Amino acid sequence: MIIILARVLEEKEKDDLQEGLKKKGIRLHFLEVGKEKTIAVTEKSFPVQEWIPSHWLERIVEVDTPFQLANRAFTSSRTVIRIKDVEIGGDTLTVIAGPCAVESRDQLFRIAEVVKRTGAHILRGGAFKPRTSPYSFQGLGEEGLEILARAREEFGLPVITEATSPENAYLVAQYANIIQIGARNMQNFDLLKRVGSLGKPVLLKRGMSATIEDFLLAAEYILSLGNFQVILCERGIRGIEKMTRNTLDLTAIPLVKDLSHLPIVVDPSHGTGLREKVIPMARAAVACGADGVMVEVHTHPEEALSDGPQSLYPEQFRRLMNELEVVSILVGKELRKHREQPRAESSVATPSHPLRVAFLGEVGSFSSQVARRSFPEAEPLPCGNFREIFEKVQERIAAYGIVPLENTITGSIHHNFDLLLEFPQIFVVGERFIRVSQHLGIFPGTSRDSLRVLFAHPQGFAQCSRFLESLRGVKVMNVGNTEEAARRAAEFGEGSGCISSEEAILKYGLHIVEEEIEDNPRNFTRFIIISTSFQPSQDHDKVSCVFALENRPGSLYEALGIFARRQVNLLKLESRPQPGKPWEYLFYIDWEGNLKEECYRELLTELSAKAIFLRVLGSYHNAWKK
Ligand code: PEP
Ligand code: MN
Repeated sequence: MIIILARVLEEKEKDDLQEGLKKKGIRLHFLEVGKEKTIAVTEKSFPVQEWIPSHWLERIVEVDTPFQLANRAFTSSRTVIRIKDVEIGGDTLTVIAGPCAVESRDQLFRIAEVVKRTGAHILRGGAFKPRTSPYSFQGLGEEGLEILARAREEFGLPVITEATSPENAYLVAQYANIIQIGARNMQNFDLLKRVGSLGKPVLLKRGMSATIEDFLLAAEYILSLGNFQVILCERGIRGIEKMTRNTLDLTAIPLVKDLSHLPIVVDPSHGTGLREKVIPMARAAVACGADGVMVEVHTHPEEALSDGPQSLYPEQFRRLMNELEVVSILVGKELRKHREQPRAESSVATPSHPLRVAFLGEVGSFSSQVARRSFPEAEPLPCGNFREIFEKVQERIAAYGIVPLENTITGSIHHNFDLLLEFPQIFVVGERFIRVSQHLGIFPGTSRDSLRVLFAHPQGFAQCSRFLESLRGVKVMNVGNTEEAARRAAEFGEGSGCISSEEAILKYGLHIVEEEIEDNPRNFTRFIIISTSFQPSQDHDKVSCVFALENRPGSLYEALGIFARRQVNLLKLESRPQPGKPWEYLFYIDWEGNLKEECYRELLTELSAKAIFLRVLGSYHNAWKK
């Protein structure tokens, strides 16, 4: 049982309570949280009101598992750990990468450069190594910690490293952003208590023979000292299989997600012991709901002083990142590669002129989710229609705009292609894909059968056309965006429902009665990020243009030949009527290339000589690329 008190108890008050309850065989464990609260945890329930004045009580949580503060019932939201601009938990996927052990400054810097460039969020490296054999490399100790701290400065990545004893935990905390507790130490209770009191984020690895309950009870030790920044890590357990180093228990992920609010990441390097098996197991980990992965990477694994056979080569790590980027979208998470973290551009963001991002609808719309993921620090600027987004960006009221361009079920959103043409100072500077899950939300008390009115954005209705056919006698009402659909249903009251996002449905107190009602679960929307500042960069690999050609036989064939001769891959070709010119067309084309390179600039020169009109709409990173 967890008792949350809305005040800090005096020592005397605690002692009196403890003394009284002792006779009943009950012991309270007290934690002070901030300056206003006390939390008391007991193994056995008791009639709290008889012992504690009701005006002290904020909340009582009855928990039916031995782990209590780790139980999901303790908080209504999932725990998200934040280290500067890196998050673990929530709707992002976090990648921790680096060598098993810090071997030298050169070795760590070389690897850190690779993992940073490839988009990892956190740098790992052991300085105190708990090795099975006393004759194996034991780590560089404090020298290793110093090298890690220098790498953090040089590469701007937070660092994680292991503490192996209560004695070195304090030292590790001086250098690391996250303290790792290794599998061999999961039940080193003195160490757990020490890191519980240090107040730094802790990554707790599952012991080799630990059950999920043991694992969560180990986390409970840290939480019970008031440190709620705990990240769990599944790293494989001892099974009967000898071909792999351990048996990676991915069932732990959905189990832990049901039982606990704590984030959980997966370490497929120690989980398999085999570098070739790391990528498939990392993909599986993300697919079953992990909040992140931790992998070992080495530039020269054959020379590594520990765990070389399971360390990825830089090229494999690059592939892993690309694959996880794609898989994460499928489960509603997003791998925001570190290099793509939005930069608050000094020209557009100053204290008196903050970074704003314009999008359609209110918070809760799919566009707002993309805005938040792309620019977590920016001030949201909700707009009433797409034109307004373009205007706000053109007038530099917003630095960026978020605009949907295409959906996998309903196709292109033509109006936005036209707006791109109409605003010649606006460019596409990025793209994002999100999986769109539509749900049926209804007003409390209304049943599916008593539903009379259904609100949705036309895109929502179009994506759920088969579901709509199954509803009889329901009036459908078009609204301007996904969030508005839920709001209007809530205002309408009894008999109403909406097709909307989970976030919007819950925001307005409606109930989700049917989930994922879109015609096809592979329902993705491609959003573009627009801005007036256009800067092709080295890591861009996608270009968008629009052109018009003479109306004569072979002109499109010749234009496309310019791409074919250079072996340039086309990603999309869309024709749209030219405004004011009946039966004449514009071609919107997306292709793989980088405008920083001469050969692609030559391609454009050749195309512009053939076309009667050509405009480059943008240069950015292809967010769907495998
Ligand atoms: C490590 O992460 O390098 C490590 C020693 O892992 P584990 O504790 O899972 O064996
Ligand atoms: Mn290792």
